[in-house]
Amino acid sequence: MAEAAVKAALRALNPATNEHFGPSFPEPSAAQIEAACAAAAAAFDTYRETDLETRAAFLEAIAAEIEALGDELIQTAMAETGLPQARITGERGRTTGQLRLFAQVVRRGDWIGARIDPAMPERTPLPRADLRQRFIPLGPVVVFGASNFPLAFSTGGGDTASALAAGCPVIVKGHSAHPNTGAMIGGAIDKAVKAAGLPAGVFALLIGQQRTLGAGLVADPRIKAVGFTGSRAGGVAFMRIAAERREPIPVFAEMSSINPVVLMPAALAARAEALGTAFIGSLTMGAGQFCTNPGLVFALDGPDLDRFEAAATAALTAAQPQVMLTPGIFGAYEQGVNQLLDRDGVKLLARGCVGDGVNQAVGALFSVDAETFQRDAVLSHEVFGSSSLIVRVKDAGQLAEVLEGLEGQLTATLQMDPADAEAARPLLPILERKAGRILANGWPTGVEVSNAMVHGGPFPATSDPRGTSVGTRAIERFLRPVCYQDIPDTLLPAALKADNPLGVRRAIDGVL
Ligand code: NAP
Repeated sequence: MAEAAVKAALRALNPATNEHFGPSFPEPSAAQIEAACAAAAAAFDTYRETDLETRAAFLEAIAAEIEALGDELIQTAMAETGLPQARITGERGRTTGQLRLFAQVVRRGDWIGARIDPAMPERTPLPRADLRQRFIPLGPVVVFGASNFPLAFSTGGGDTASALAAGCPVIVKGHSAHPNTGAMIGGAIDKAVKAAGLPAGVFALLIGQQRTLGAGLVADPRIKAVGFTGSRAGGVAFMRIAAERREPIPVFAEMSSINPVVLMPAALAARAEALGTAFIGSLTMGAGQFCTNPGLVFALDGPDLDRFEAAATAALTAAQPQVMLTPGIFGAYEQGVNQLLDRDGVKLLARGCVGDGVNQAVGALFSVDAETFQRDAVLSHEVFGSSSLIVRVKDAGQLAEVLEGLEGQLTATLQMDPADAEAARPLLPILERKAGRILANGWPTGVEVSNAMVHGGPFPATSDPRGTSVGTRAIERFLRPVCYQDIPDTLLPAALKADNPLGVRRAIDGVL
């Protein structure tokens, strides 16, 4: 309550002008939070047993309702985030595409994971019971979206889509940096809930800015899992709350990653200039506000790396400043860059162009030798924005050593030519242990929503390395297996009945 007294009522802020606009969003009351949790719990048993077609059509209806919001949604998201039209329009397509992809997953029914080990009454020395297994959803899920993806990682984003696909009611804690965008998407989901005739508790949006709101939701005993995208501090706070509950629950938090890029020698010799320019393109895209931004570059010290640095320096020096998402994120970026400027042994290579608007990020590129990098843990902390550090290594052994010392990452990239293959081979096991996605000759920014994508990785990239928050596997985070032993056919769930009325794929004695 003390915190509530000092914070002004939540209103949207345009980061390009620092002006507030639109309606005030009163902080949700304790009664509203209680009602949302109670409704979600009450809706769970009905929603989780909706037939596959109803649930798939519901997800498709959400996508259609989001599209029906038209240009007003695009303009609202642009005003609240400072992100350009093309980016927001693309993100809307990704968001609706993601919902439709999960509709296909639901219809296919593979996620049910049906397995049947038929009874073996004659087995000796002991008969085997009839064992049938399927996945069921965990229960109501609380979702926290991130400021940098107001559509694809927020109210109607990947966590919401995958939890709803799994059969979990969802309560979204609306992000304070884009409340109007959140409210519009929340309204679209509400419409789809009504049109499908589902219980109202299947979805709720609570927009607020007090820490007690999110903390209270995660602590509520009716909540059974958390999906989070955002800062390391936020994710870790929720991991702690979830672990200290009487019934601890899983937290799937996507947090912090600096996405190392390794420039292999033959690739660097062949195309140092092109790599330097492309690297700055990836670094400065969207003011560097991507969790997959390339924040660290490793390469052998020498003239080819000098060429790469010169090209990157030239490209960054010409890069225009861009508005960041919020004054807070801009402030944190400035602080991160200033900290690097002050670090012993770190050399500033280039800054981008300075603008005259507010909250504008000026890109920053630094270089350091590997010994200094290994000594100073601060140098591998994420600076959210267009700042990156080039680490000069002496030889292949030192490269392996510095990679070994890295924390968990969402991505790791190898820029390599065919002649680099043998030198890259021993690095792969290291990168597999460090990252959720390993790329060759691309840049980590840009995450495809597909079946094979992994947007995850060991801590602190995420709180749980076993999952992904992007792609169809994201549904698995919100499911758990239940085994039915000798349960009569009339009582079995449809997916496990003798005549397989859903027609889903099942493994009988381990064979599909
Ligand atoms: P954020 O500040 O952590 O906010 C995320 C959400 O969690 C917001 O709704 C926020 O509430 C809430 N929250 C955060 N800490 C909380 C706490 N201690 N108690 C209660 N609620 C809390 O993150 P952001 O500013 O949206 O995003 C920027 C960061 O996200 C960057 O560091 C970036 O690297 C990371 N990110 C990661 C990924 C990924 O996939 N790994 C993707 C995108 C962004 P309020 O709305 O009230 O602030």
